[in-house]
Amino acid sequence: MRATRFFISTLKEAPADAEIVSHKLMMRAGMIKRLGSGIYNYMPMGLRIIRKVENIIREEMNRAGAIEMLMPVVQPAELWQETGRWDKMGPELMRVKDRHGRDYIIQPTSEEAITDVVRSEIRSYRQLPVNFYHIQTKFRDERRPRFGLMRGREFTMKDAYSFDRNVEGLKQSYQIMYDAYTRIFQRFGLQFRAVAADNGAIGGSGSHEFHVIAETGEDALVYCPTSDYAANMEAAEAIALSASRPAASAALTKTATPGKAKCEDVAALLSIPLQHTVKSIVLTVEGEKEEDKQVWLLLLRGDHELNEVKTSKVAGLANYRFATESEIVEWFGTKPGYLGPINTRKPVNVVADRTVANMADFVCGANQADFHFTGANWGRDLPEPVVADLRNVVDGDPSPDGKGVLAIQRGIEVGHVFQLGTRYSEDMKATFLDENGKPQLLQMGCYGIGVTRILGAAIEQNFDDKGIIWPTAIAPFEVVICPMGMDRSEAVKAETEKLYQAMLDAGIDVILDDRGERPGAMFADWELIGVPHRVVIGDRGLKEGKLEYVGRRDTEATNVPVAEMLALVQ
Ligand code: ATP
Ligand code: MG
Ligand code: MG
Ligand code: MG
Repeated sequence: MRATRFFISTLKEAPADAEIVSHKLMMRAGMIKRLGSGIYNYMPMGLRIIRKVENIIREEMNRAGAIEMLMPVVQPAELWQETGRWDKMGPELMRVKDRHGRDYIIQPTSEEAITDVVRSEIRSYRQLPVNFYHIQTKFRDERRPRFGLMRGREFTMKDAYSFDRNVEGLKQSYQIMYDAYTRIFQRFGLQFRAVAADNGAIGGSGSHEFHVIAETGEDALVYCPTSDYAANMEAAEAIALSASRPAASAALTKTATPGKAKCEDVAALLSIPLQHTVKSIVLTVEGEKEEDKQVWLLLLRGDHELNEVKTSKVAGLANYRFATESEIVEWFGTKPGYLGPINTRKPVNVVADRTVANMADFVCGANQADFHFTGANWGRDLPEPVVADLRNVVDGDPSPDGKGVLAIQRGIEVGHVFQLGTRYSEDMKATFLDENGKPQLLQMGCYGIGVTRILGAAIEQNFDDKGIIWPTAIAPFEVVICPMGMDRSEAVKAETEKLYQAMLDAGIDVILDDRGERPGAMFADWELIGVPHRVVIGDRGLKEGKLEYVGRRDTEATNVPVAEMLALVQ
């Protein structure tokens, strides 16, 4: 590529709304351009990186036996109604109507679409296992889109879906994906860690997150440096809780299934010491008939603001009527977070006695004596929880595996693998015929990688005061050739063209900066853009038969004989 035939647009200053380093640098390097909140143009320089990320993912998915396809961005609401997610998802799910008034969604993920394909295409156990994936645009109407590609509303995800005949098969498919993810992140050249994303109460972890390690990461990771124990904070806390408070932990586990908590479970729940990210408590009753009614506990977690509670509606609740899920969605603009360490749909967060004590003495309960509680309320006066104060897993705690002490570091979630089991196949009646000709539910797993988030995460991990430092595998260009005075010196021009051609022939992704910029401006651009290798060709060096080489992390240039340059950057 010649720079004059490419599009390079760099900025000295980052726009004011860019808060974190990766967002600032990507904007300054002309890799992305904002079109709307959480919506970006992927500019030519940025798209090259995205394509490299995609290609590595594609190669490793194919190697792992997954099959590429492409599912639509716009999907009919009916499918999402079948699984209940049309109601459950809340405003993060983007809903649109067509000209006939029919409902659609813009896909945030594709479990429904793939299960619909599979329920009609997979008939026999002989067709299993199978794993389909696609690399497709996603839309999530994030409450707070920010940090550029890190938390966009429109973004690219690779999502894969495995289908197996039984749980053993699912576990194998899961392991294959886990291993593929490990290779993918290794090939990116990033420092990463896989962590258990649930507490593993039911034999091994059913879910892992892959995190790029970066101090600016939104997530806290708990790991043991002297063993292979690693979990995200929610999972680690759930384990700590089950060790220190078995009764409360058991109650949590029970409550993970809506409608299953008993009065004493709730009492146990209320006795758990305050944990992090607690936002609010909602007590609710399920069941039509009186005898079906049971109390269960929900927490609103994370990314919503409590001051959005509409007080008039809350006051209505003082008449002992409990919120239904759709009401919660309506009032809070978010679906309730489910409680419980083994709940696989939402991460765990724990309720607190202190929280309850803080609240306005709201009496609640079902129409049954045992089901009344006092002292609970919507937690709208709760102070914003301070994570550091409330955490009950800290640096130096003993590791649950007994093999050392725990350490905490921060990470950016770039991948997530999940054993779904029959969550979707049940609702959508996705079955196959087993050896005996009997219909069985498909066992499903799902596996996501945030393609565009990888760019932000890679930068958060690799930058300096001059700009981005791309690992070679995902750099927009591997090598930049910077000629000094190409228009003035025949020797420089000849050597430049020769080396450029030789690099192209060797399959090196090289850009020749033929823009005729001053050296200072030229070098500053490529340092900002983060190209790993720079070769400078000038008359002075050529007289001694040498070129100048600077690695992006080098502090000084090295003079390299002309004949050795190609091998050096290969
Ligand atoms: P987060 O916790 O950051 O909101 P998530 O757990 O909701 O992410 P998943 O549903 O697990 O995300 O989706 C799989 C992957 O998609 C994530 O691991 C992440 O890399 C990526 N991803 C999710 N949301 C976004 C977003 N808003 N912008 C960019 N990438 C995203
Ligand atoms: Mg999310
Ligand atoms: Mg997450
Ligand atoms: Mg996730």
